[in-house]
Amino acid sequence: MTAPPTCILLDIEGTTTAIAFVKDTLFPFAEAALDGFLDARGADPAVAAILADVRAAAPAEDPRATLRRWMTEDAKVTPLKSLQGLIWRAGYEDGRLQGHLWPDVAPCLRAWSRAGLRLAVYSSGSVPAQRLLFGHSVAGDLTGIFTGFFDTAVGGKRDAASYATIAAGLHLPAREILFLSDVAEELDAAAAAGLRTCQLVRDADGTRPSGRHAEAADFQAVARLHGLPAPG
Ligand SMILES: [Mg+2]
Repeated sequence: MTAPPTCILLDIEGTTTAIAFVKDTLFPFAEAALDGFLDARGADPAVAAILADVRAAAPAEDPRATLRRWMTEDAKVTPLKSLQGLIWRAGYEDGRLQGHLWPDVAPCLRAWSRAGLRLAVYSSGSVPAQRLLFGHSVAGDLTGIFTGFFDTAVGGKRDAASYATIAAGLHLPAREILFLSDVAEELDAAAAAGLRTCQLVRDADGTRPSGRHAEAADFQAVARLHGLPAPG
């Protein structure tokens, strides 16, 4: 029998966290909190610099109107993304926001960490956003159990080279790392780099099994399939 992995690499959306969390919680929160945040913090240097960038992008428009328009259009523009990041940070830090985790996730992560497994995150959300989500999660502050956080600074999630870079960054042979994701193309890329793979197929997220990777409905099933300790 193959030895169990020594490191678990985790995707977030669709794996640890509901896909809807970003769309139904984070984005509406930033929209609702925009005016209050700008009233309270508009003079902070970081916020003032963002507002100057907004004015430069749309000089004929009130910057708050520009920001609301960008939110409605879901525009991928840096000043909006930077401001949303600051609003989310404030929301997490004062307890109005909590990072969503499916109920099976934190107990398994804690059991795996206690058993000496290394845990790392690879998400298209930025490393600071990953730290906020796990640092202010519904299951408390989990950042201490992770030994690495990776975002698309290492490369795209559908690119095999990204997974080789992460394995090198963790100083581990690729075969010792188990990558968990809901997206088959990400798992294909990880497998091409030599990582082990398991697809999270969560009914609540509407994930379709690919048939190309081991499949698990939750982290308890991941533990059973891959010889990992279970909580309790
Ligand atoms: Mg995902």
